[in-house]
Amino acid sequence: MSRYDLIVAGAGLGGLSFLWHLLEAGIGARRVLVLDRSLDVRGDRTWCFWGDDKAEFSSTANTSWHLAALTFEDETLTKEMLEHRYYCISSDAFRAKVLARINACENITVIESNIREIGEDESGPYVVNDQGRWEADWVLQSVRLGASDASRDVRYPVRQHFGGLEIQTETPVFDPQCFTMMDFRVEQQGGVSFVYILPFAPDRALVEHTVFSVNTMSPGEHYALTEAYVQERLGVQYDIKRREFGDLPMDDRAPDQQSSAHVFNVGIVGGHIKPSTGYTFARVQRRTRAMAAAFAATGRLKRIPDAPIRFAFYDRLLLRLLHDKPEVGLTVFQALFKRNSVDRVFRFLDERTTLHEELSMFLKLPFWPFISGLPAVLPRIFTQWLTKIPHMGLMLATGILMTWVMAIGLGLAGWHPGAGSLLSDGLWITLTTFLSTGVFITAHECMHGLVAPGSPRINRAIGWFATWSYAGLSYDALNRAHHVHHAKPATEEDPDYHRGNPNIVRWYIDFMSQYSTWKQWAWMSALTLTFIAALSLPIERVLLFWAVPLVVSTVQLFVVGTWLPHRPGKYLGDGPLRARTLDLHPILSLLACFHFGYHYEHHARPDLPWWRLWQVRGMGGETRPQILADPTVRVSRAVSSG
Ligand SMILES: Cc1cc2nc3c(=O)[nH]c(=O)nc-3n(C[C@H](O)[C@H](O)[C@H](O)COP(=O)(O)OP(=O)(O)OC[C@H]3O[C@@H](n4cnc5c(N)ncnc54)[C@H](O)[C@@H]3O)c2cc1C
Repeated sequence: MSRYDLIVAGAGLGGLSFLWHLLEAGIGARRVLVLDRSLDVRGDRTWCFWGDDKAEFSSTANTSWHLAALTFEDETLTKEMLEHRYYCISSDAFRAKVLARINACENITVIESNIREIGEDESGPYVVNDQGRWEADWVLQSVRLGASDASRDVRYPVRQHFGGLEIQTETPVFDPQCFTMMDFRVEQQGGVSFVYILPFAPDRALVEHTVFSVNTMSPGEHYALTEAYVQERLGVQYDIKRREFGDLPMDDRAPDQQSSAHVFNVGIVGGHIKPSTGYTFARVQRRTRAMAAAFAATGRLKRIPDAPIRFAFYDRLLLRLLHDKPEVGLTVFQALFKRNSVDRVFRFLDERTTLHEELSMFLKLPFWPFISGLPAVLPRIFTQWLTKIPHMGLMLATGILMTWVMAIGLGLAGWHPGAGSLLSDGLWITLTTFLSTGVFITAHECMHGLVAPGSPRINRAIGWFATWSYAGLSYDALNRAHHVHHAKPATEEDPDYHRGNPNIVRWYIDFMSQYSTWKQWAWMSALTLTFIAALSLPIERVLLFWAVPLVVSTVQLFVVGTWLPHRPGKYLGDGPLRARTLDLHPILSLLACFHFGYHYEHHARPDLPWWRLWQVRGMGGETRPQILADPTVRVSRAVSSG
């Protein structure tokens, strides 16, 4: 089977948008395989988005509006848009336009077949569908992967679910200039509920009953409530021309741009859906354009910069409100649109506003519901923010190395706090052990190029210093062996695997002895002599504050990073993923071994530094990287024509 430069797995909004932008940027000689279960006309979705008159795909839009209405129990706000138009494009028109261009390109092959698995092994990333296995240098996927759905810590699992009817009325009742963004004059169904109307002509419109809530409703319930609304509010006879149903995640998981080193995510899986609104179309265009430009220029898929973290913070505050206090949601929407132009709200939702503009918007909102959400939202945003700090790997590595040297120095000199008391000495030895483990983990990060991404020389220099000062170990030898371990873990070729006797003690001795050399012994002896003879330090102090932490940390690293994950038995994956995981709470996991216990996760995502492994915790649990039930799959199944 021939190998491709890129496989696009899933040709929905995300996949097709990427291909469109790749063709715009220039595909060159690159060969691309597109896989989707079906590219037939589906008639299932109308995609709306806002933009100026040059917005991407605005010329393909079937309708656009410059007036937006919002109706509350006591008032209707009709707002004019000066900077934006609100566009509506049918998913079929979009698909037809992109597919026509794809079909005209010789370098792109399209196969319609069900995808069963997406993964990455020693031969690179691959996709398995009903026709077999396909390999490429890169995979871009929008077919929900278990791996990318790994975050278990979704705190506000809100969904946007809706069912709409495209109706033809007997008499003209709609204003084709003005769409109804939200009409709240409906019963609130356990979450913010409203009707959304897209008028295509005076006698034709899509009328859609929508709810933001945790518990979803069936298509039938939504259609019945839409019909009740039409009868009560419009009072006209009508024919149903088409139905559409959707159930989209609006939750606060932090989706990742990548599933593994060469598998990138796009569309909902890649976090292109705006969590607090469910709008995806324009975000997909912006992000896939950047991804496609990078691929066209370099032949590689790359992460693109995320929006400033404050927008994720606002999203979470709103989601928390929709989740915990849906009854307040309505008041917030009313204040938001009453006191701000729609243009400004759209710019805010596009994450293009300045901090000053945002503050002036928030001051016009009832702010106590948001303030009361801060204790719940701030810690999670803070940890997310930490992962975005530039040079974080370098700062952590330097911090660990420096504190380790200080901890040993103070311990040996007897200058640590409370020196001489059993408790303080015990705590100091524990701290030094933890930091010693951190020093080896730092060297391990260097082997994966993660301390200073893109700078092999800095990684090697820090890795060399860490392994040598830790125990006189050769960084280059460890590095070579470690990459063989990643390629063939828990096999006879794995240098870290047992040598025929899986007994933990025997294995530990074999493991340690294979990395020891005469140079290491010479270095360790020289250090010991320096401490005892040259610096006249008491032997017991050298033992307790230097030797014990070192030996205990090797045991800790061996048990958590080698024995537990790779001992014979059932593994969570095959090939490079022959590993298990120590599924502890993130705080315990950090204390246990700098998250090295999330070992399956590390083998699946060697591109993630230790301090980010908790974010993909669970990908080695029940949810291995295989196709899981996808909300978008549910969506397309549920759609039917009237
Ligand atoms: C009715 C409806 C109306 C919407 N309206 C709007 C709107 O107005 N504005 C807006 O911005 N967003 C809207 N959305 C949301 C938007 O459609 C989605 O967010 C968007 O389609 C997500 O893009 P995606 O590429 O992640 O998924 P999809 O577009 O669903 O693409 C996924 C693709 O993967 C394929 N696939 C899935 N599983 C497999 C498998 N096992 N094997 C092979 N192929 C597979 C599917 O066939 C599909 O082509 C709407 C959604 C619905 C359902």
